[in-house]
Amino acid sequence: MDNSRQGTPEERRKQRFLNKSAVTSVKYLRKIDELPHKPDTLDPFLNILKHVFVDMQGAVKPKDTPSIGTYCVMVPPELIYAAGAMPVKLCGGSYTAFNIGDDIAPRDACPLVKAVMGFESIGVMPVYQECRMMAVPITCDCKKKLAGWLGERRKTVTLHVPTGRDRDEDMEHYVKELYQFSEELTKITGKQLSYERLSWACGLTAAAQYELSRFIELRRRAPLVIKGTHYLAALNALSYSHISIWTRYMRALCDEIEQRIKRKEMASKENRPRILVTGSPIVFPNFKLPLLIEEMGGALVADETCMGERGAYDPPAIADQSTDGIMRALANKSTRPCTCPTFTDNKRRVYRIMQMLEDYQVQGVIYHVLRGCLVYDYEYQVLEEEMGRLGVPIIRVESDYNEEDVEQLRIRVEAFIELIKYGRGGDSAIHLRK
Ligand code: SF4
Ligand code: SF4
Repeated sequence: MDNSRQGTPEERRKQRFLNKSAVTSVKYLRKIDELPHKPDTLDPFLNILKHVFVDMQGAVKPKDTPSIGTYCVMVPPELIYAAGAMPVKLCGGSYTAFNIGDDIAPRDACPLVKAVMGFESIGVMPVYQECRMMAVPITCDCKKKLAGWLGERRKTVTLHVPTGRDRDEDMEHYVKELYQFSEELTKITGKQLSYERLSWACGLTAAAQYELSRFIELRRRAPLVIKGTHYLAALNALSYSHISIWTRYMRALCDEIEQRIKRKEMASKENRPRILVTGSPIVFPNFKLPLLIEEMGGALVADETCMGERGAYDPPAIADQSTDGIMRALANKSTRPCTCPTFTDNKRRVYRIMQMLEDYQVQGVIYHVLRGCLVYDYEYQVLEEEMGRLGVPIIRVESDYNEEDVEQLRIRVEAFIELIKYGRGGDSAIHLRK
């Protein structure tokens, strides 16, 4: 039954939002589902996305676990799990929510933040509504203004992330921020920060990181063993699922891929151009770029984005076995290895990408810029020069949260893949390994 004709005008508006939002999510889930060589064990990850964005349910978690909304990988999940809650990463990818946020935020704000504002202002998505507190790291200007806007509507804590990673005093400051955040968490859950609770939480994330490292090893193979779009869907699902559930699903996915390798069932042909995507986050359902790469004959072999591999980064290196030792390790691991361009000096991102070119035998780089995302746009030129030096083709693609640019993107992605296939990019991976 169409509920959008019943109730008050406001109720009808909300129902129309839910219907429209679900239609887009169904469409992208179907496209992901229909891509060839989908492992059977990917289904639980797709079900998490369906649960949240089609069935309009909250996060997938044990009963009575409070949700804490987070807006960046620099909020350590261990701290939230230690407090007896779970983090839900709420960076938005919805075109429907973007349209609402577009009327609230300034024109040049990035679509990711506009989508968050749209979700918050319409107030009907359980995954947002059920959050007891929002944690927003102050990274770029859009996040800073988002924190202020959210703070007028919800309980919101800001985390002042250092702009550089090398000065010890900056790191001391971030440790203090984490202690303050932890106090706010205790007010919600009633659970005090302790060494035992933090160690237990670090064990939870370490188990997930172990499965992810298995997966990354499998993913490095040539020919490709899992499509990049499938990989990104599995990683996106982590944002809305309790980490212990996600770890179980990831273990099953790795087991299935290992079996597939034994049977020599690969996910792409050997001669498909091997592409790395880097740049602004790719958040479900905004999956048009990874889908286009694979539909146009490319093999999306790697990503350097915070919704992908970077999102579940290195485990904390705990030098001192105490509460303070773990807090310091968490502050370090959330910022020091992070290659996000919101840091002033970001040479390590270029080094990281160069390392990935070798590890994944990459033949071309697609640089994704969400319209208005200045921090990523700033770094394009540096990377372009570096890739030029190495002879690795690179293109910058800018996109927004709508489907109007899909055809234009398709033409550019197709031309880029053809260039690698038949042009100068064909032997770049070999050239790199020399
Ligand atoms: S792009 Fe950077 S600031 Fe934005 S969510 Fe990712 S890691 Fe955080
Ligand atoms: S880093 Fe870019 S995509 Fe993320 S909030 Fe800032 S402007 Fe938006």
